[in-house]
Amino acid sequence: MNLIKCGKTVYVDMDNVLVNFQSGLDRVPEAIKREYADDGTGKPHYDDIPHIFSLMDPMPGAIEAMRELWPYFNLYILSTAPWLNPSAWSDKLEWVQRYFGKDNDSIFYKRLIISHHKDLNHGDFLIDDREKNGASEFQGELIQFGTSKYPDWPAIVEYLHQQH
Ligand SMILES: [Mg+2]
Repeated sequence: MNLIKCGKTVYVDMDNVLVNFQSGLDRVPEAIKREYADDGTGKPHYDDIPHIFSLMDPMPGAIEAMRELWPYFNLYILSTAPWLNPSAWSDKLEWVQRYFGKDNDSIFYKRLIISHHKDLNHGDFLIDDREKNGASEFQGELIQFGTSKYPDWPAIVEYLHQQH
């Protein structure tokens, strides 16, 4: 199933693209949330809460979209994990294995890339909700999830079906 294919390469972000960050935050007790409400500049840093990334649900349509697209593209996950939260790095791997399988016939078997420099990856498309961590300098096409042009997974799947 996970053959090297000749199709175009598509990188997919995790937080708020494959993964619903808010669904994890909603499961964190209020007392812990308060501890992470101020990063020193007045902004919350909830992504540093230990194991918050293990509590998150998939975004609507995300799993189905990957199953729909994988026959046509070389799919990789390209995500950033918080530098100060080591549990996020392992939780992201476990999340991918939980929702897509961990065996060598699963869609993302050994195709998880965690990076703060997304522009260093070569490929045709990057699906990301933000321009941070190198996304805006990506040399292929940035498909910005959640914009009016690409509001959700059905819109992106429809667009990518025109590209293979
Ligand atoms: Mg994101």
